[in-house]
Amino acid sequence: MGYYHTPSSIEDALSIADKYNDNYTFFAGGTDIQIYRKQKLDLNEHIIDLSLINNINTISMKNGTLSLGAMATLDEIFVSKKIQNNFPLIAKSVNSVATPVLRKTATIGGNLLVKNRCTFYNQSKGWRDSIGSCLRDVGDICQVTGGKDDCYARNVSDAATALIALNAKAVLTSLNGVEHRLVKDLYLPCGIKSHNLSKGTILTQIHLSLSPVKWWYKKLRLRKTLDFTSLTVAATVNKTGIVRVCLNGASMSPILIKESLDLLTLELLIKQARKHCKAVDNDLMPLKYRKQMINVFLEECWETISQKDTRTQSSK
Ligand SMILES: Cc1cc2nc3c(=O)[nH]c(=O)nc-3n(C[C@H](O)[C@H](O)[C@H](O)COP(=O)(O)OP(=O)(O)OC[C@H]3O[C@@H](n4cnc5c(N)ncnc54)[C@H](O)[C@@H]3O)c2cc1C
Ligand code: SF4
Repeated sequence: MGYYHTPSSIEDALSIADKYNDNYTFFAGGTDIQIYRKQKLDLNEHIIDLSLINNINTISMKNGTLSLGAMATLDEIFVSKKIQNNFPLIAKSVNSVATPVLRKTATIGGNLLVKNRCTFYNQSKGWRDSIGSCLRDVGDICQVTGGKDDCYARNVSDAATALIALNAKAVLTSLNGVEHRLVKDLYLPCGIKSHNLSKGTILTQIHLSLSPVKWWYKKLRLRKTLDFTSLTVAATVNKTGIVRVCLNGASMSPILIKESLDLLTLELLIKQARKHCKAVDNDLMPLKYRKQMINVFLEECWETISQKDTRTQSSK
């Protein structure tokens, strides 16, 4: 039995969440969470649909600061001239998510909070039961490592990769008030508790003002559409020469490497990335190949970001 709620304000949504304690799920575009419901990975009785709430689906730009309402769809963001002209990295990243049809429903907030994935977990209940389940579900070991403590499910948000490289901030609203937090701090390096959000918190806006002088973006996946990432890399260089390289899809949370261009080398970049990525064999692509591709992507990225002067970008 399930109950479907359609609040028309943040306050109403928060009070419904408060009333049903841990037994509810926020629903934005639903493109991720509906599959969790179908696969019996989300069993909460109350669905709180955020789509009728006003003022959290707009895209605006004021004094160089871009504001994205959490309920703006990936397609609306991609087609926005403001974004294509001023933040092409965001346009690239949202356009690399899923498929054109899904992007018309999928929201930026839902993308930032998309659940971590693992080939042994994102399966039907029958499939999971047949292998004895795992730590993140009702089992007692990790099917990938055989361990009993840690889950290595991967964070797969493509938009997070770009927004962290752009040093974006998130606005979070709960009954305790409004909090501004860096997007990079929304994540925890854990496959089970992957987001650093208290229950009863709604992501309402994303703000950013950094317009980089150089950027780079690329996503590794089996097919050029539909598939989740096996590795996404986004990089920016700002006008003071600070490099921000973010890798996602390779570990439990996005990995940010931030350094002055004067001090950074390709070797250092690869060393830092390999050190922080806790990649295990839980993706459709083999682990060895995914690890090699970290070097390949960073080598290609470095060619762009280490160039002097010109405004450049690259992506696939
Ligand atoms: C075939 C397929 C391919 C896909 N490919 C990709 C891909 O390539 N890259 C990728 O990143 N994703 C992919 N996805 C996952 C998903 O479509 C996207 O991540 C999408 O952007 C999720 O947005 P949504 O609005 O549909 O989120 P929902 O499914 O509604 O929600 C996702 C999660 O975020 C929470 N949530 C949503 N909004 C808020 C909010 N404002 N405040 C608090 N919590 C919130 C929900 O409770 C839920 O846990 C794919 C999905 C499918 C079905
Ligand atoms: S990494 Fe291990 S514990 Fe985590 S979802 Fe996969 S199999 Fe389960």
